[in-house]
This record gives sequence, C-alpha cells and structure tokens, in this order.
Amino acid sequence: MKENRAFQYRIYPTKEQIDLIERTFGCCRFVYNQILSLQNETYANGGKYISWTKANTYCNQVLKADYPFLKEVDKFALTNSIICLDRAFRLFFDKKCEYPSYKSKKRSRKSYSTNFSHNNIVVMDHGIKLPKLKVVKAKVHRIAPSDWTLKGATVSQNAAGEYYCSVLYEFEKEAVNRPLDVNRSIGLDYKSDGLYATSTGVVCGSPKFFREAQKTLAREQRKLSKKKKGSQNYLEQKQRVAKVYRHIANQRKDFLHKEALALAEEWDIVCVETLDMKEMSNKTFGNGKATLDNGYGEFLQMLEYKLKERGKVLVKVDRYYPSSQLCSCCSTLNHSVKTENLSEWTCPACGATHNRDFNAAENIRREGVRIYLGFQPNSA
Ligand SMILES: [Zn+2]
Repeated sequence: MKENRAFQYRIYPTKEQIDLIERTFGCCRFVYNQILSLQNETYANGGKYISWTKANTYCNQVLKADYPFLKEVDKFALTNSIICLDRAFRLFFDKKCEYPSYKSKKRSRKSYSTNFSHNNIVVMDHGIKLPKLKVVKAKVHRIAPSDWTLKGATVSQNAAGEYYCSVLYEFEKEAVNRPLDVNRSIGLDYKSDGLYATSTGVVCGSPKFFREAQKTLAREQRKLSKKKKGSQNYLEQKQRVAKVYRHIANQRKDFLHKEALALAEEWDIVCVETLDMKEMSNKTFGNGKATLDNGYGEFLQMLEYKLKERGKVLVKVDRYYPSSQLCSCCSTLNHSVKTENLSEWTCPACGATHNRDFNAAENIRREGVRIYLGFQPNSA
C-alpha cells in the first residue's frame, strides 16, 4: 500500500532567493487569474470548459510569449497553479464549493508547489535544493528514510513572514499483522484544563510553556488593541502577535505529537470519548481573537493516525455515555458525581472510592473494548 507523508522545514532564503520566491508567488497568482478569465470568457461565448492540460498548453504558448517574466520562475509551480484552479472548478461542478474567485495579493495564501524531476529537489543536512532557487538554508530536523520517494515540495510564507518548505514523499507501508490484545487497552478522559486523564491513573496536563506562552500572547494582543488600526505600529504589532501565535502553535503541535506517539507505541486499543468540537471551540474562540484551545481534537486525529499506522485502533465512545457517573467496580450509576461535581467519591453500592477522572477513563476503556470486540468476527 502506498502512502504519502510530508515533512515541513523552516527555510532561511537569502535576499535574492526571497525575491525569486515572491515573484513565483506572484506569477502563480497571475497565471491562476489569467486562466480563470479565459474560462469565464469561453463560457460567456458558449464554449466548453477548458481542461487543465489545454490550459497549460495555452500558458506555455500564449501567456509565456505575452508575458516573458513567466519564463523566469519554476515552470512546475505555474502548472500546479493551473491544476489547483481545475480542482476548484471540479469542486464547484460537484456543488461542494462556490465558483472560483480571483486571487488577490492581500488575501490569497502565499505558496507554490513544485514537482520532483531529475534530482531538482534534494534535502540535505542544512539546506534544501529547489528548482531555480538552488540550495536554500534550512533547519533540517529529520530526513526521510532512503527508500521513500520524493514527489514534490511546497514553498510558503506565513503571516509572521517566515518561510517554510514542505517536502512530500511516497512510501510503501507494511501492514502490521498481529492480533490486537484487549489487555493492552487504555481509556482517556478529556480534561479541559489539561489534555487527558488515563484509566491507568496518569494525568497529562498542559505543559508549562503553554500556560506561559498564553500569557505572552494575551499581553501582545492587549498591546495591539491599543494601537491605531492601519498605522505602521499596528502592522508591526500584528506581525508580532502572529509570530507569537505561530510559535506557540508549533510548540503545542510538537507536544501533541509526542504524547500521541507514546500512546500509539505502548497501547493496542485506545478508547476516547467523542466530543462536540464545535461547541468547545465556540467557548475558546470567542470575540474573534487568536486564542488557543488545548488542541484535543487535533490530538485525537494524530493519535488515530499513529495507531492506524501501527495496525492498532482508536475507539470512540459516545459522549453521552455516563463515563463519570458509573462505578468502574460494580457499574452502579451515581448521579451525584455530576450534580455535585465531585472529584472524589465513594460508591454507595460497593464502597469503592474513586477519583472522578481516573474512574471515567476506566469506564471509557471498558466501553471502548466492548465496542471493539463487538466488531470482531471471532469474538465470544
Ligand atoms: Zn461500586
């Protein structure tokens, strides 16, 4: 089975390289808009939709002759921009998206994609070789295994002005063929003030850097709110906020990856509650400011993916399952856990004492294992 994976690297282009990258962004946008105009005119004159291959030929034969500056940038980037427009049209035809709109310098994402051909892209220890740009200095934190095939790269610039290069690979995935062991199962109970509590009695809290970074973010946002909108100071501060935000987001992502990886390595069956992410994000993303949630939704996606990679499973338990109110020893339902918001409680039926979170996690584990076994053809 073939799988794709991308590694993203921070790159540090020189002035000349930045100039060429910026021009490539611009040319991609230009070609996108030109082909969109062509499609619009053709349609208005009763003509048929133009395929991306024909549009690409038009770009090579007509646009490049009329606008010679297009010849100076990476040719794959222009073709990919045309393919990108084609994709937007297909989504529109399938009624999944609005009619494609023109890209503006201000609003559109600053990025372009290029393809691998004759070693035009090479990831090295301290740099990445890219078409037209030659070697761009990069922070290379990981190198793909030698049997992976390089497919392409995407160069982008974020709101904080930093440049990144995402390198795409294809590789052959071996299926893990070992029966899953229910004794190697764990339950996770979501914690809004951290990440989760486990059925084995461990709390994964929110790391110190995250709490401190949130204070920094709040401070920088306060500063921004005091500046005059549109002024030079305002724009500079806005960049600073974006940079802090980006930094925290990266740190958080790293943290979530590590936690998810550790669980996926150790356990066969990980049971979690489904959560209403929309409801949760409404709470954290009020007033339109860039604030950070703890990333539990993202974490579950990573976890599911990492488990799947290893031939293991993530089992989702319905969020209305009363995991916190059931006694994990005798299954008696105790409403007062919820109504009185108890963090420690004693089961009136069997006398077992419980920590609410660990007990909930254990119930989630049991329910998850029950669901998992229900889907296994040979289970008793
Ligand atoms: Zn009990």
